[in-house]
Order: sequence, then structure tokens, then C-alpha cells
Amino acid sequence: MNIDNDGYYQELDEARGADAEVAEWSRDAARESNAKARAFRKAVKAEVARQIKAAGIARPQPRGAKGVYQCKCCKKDFEARVADRNRGWAKFCSKSCKATHQDLRQPYNRINYGT
Ligand SMILES: [Zn+2]
Repeated sequence: MNIDNDGYYQELDEARGADAEVAEWSRDAARESNAKARAFRKAVKAEVARQIKAAGIARPQPRGAKGVYQCKCCKKDFEARVADRNRGWAKFCSKSCKATHQDLRQPYNRINYGT
């Protein structure tokens, strides 16, 4: 038995496993408050999503808005980022279209392709 008697009922407490019991309580309390915080965060997230939906606001694209453009090679429509278009990119729907277009710009290849 410990000598550092900080309370009259120290021995009795130890006999009943009071320390273990207190530790258990605090664990339970922590678990409970964590669950409460989780539930609260979830509720806030759901409410924000609901209000955004109700206001009809489209969620912005993380990497910028997209637009529909016509491929310079096959003339099909394709989606590209507006920012990419502004810097002179996104002229073709695919890498193969870009390669074809680039090849056809060479007079020698034009003869080979028969165009
Ligand atoms: Zn194309």
C-alpha cells in the first residue's frame, strides 16, 4: 500500500480500483464528446450543402471552369478548361488529333497521306 496518503479514503479507493474506474470514465467521456463533435460537423456539412443546393449555386470546379470547344482536327466538340484555352492550349480533342494535324502541316506528309 502507498504511503503518499493524499486522502483519508486512499486505501479504500485503491481497494475498489478507483483509479481504473476514473480512467474508464474519462475514456467514456472523451469517446462521447468525440462522437458529439463528429455528429455536429456532419450536421453542419449537410446543412451547408442543403443551403447551397437550395440557393441553386453550382459548386465551382476545383481547377477552373470548363467550356465546350471544337477540335481543330476532327471538328468534334470536346470539353476543355477555359484557362487552358486562354493560354493557347486545348485546341485538339486528343493527342492523336494533335499529332495528325501537326503531321499534315508538313508538305511531305500531305503527299504520303494522300490529302
Ligand atoms: Zn479531334
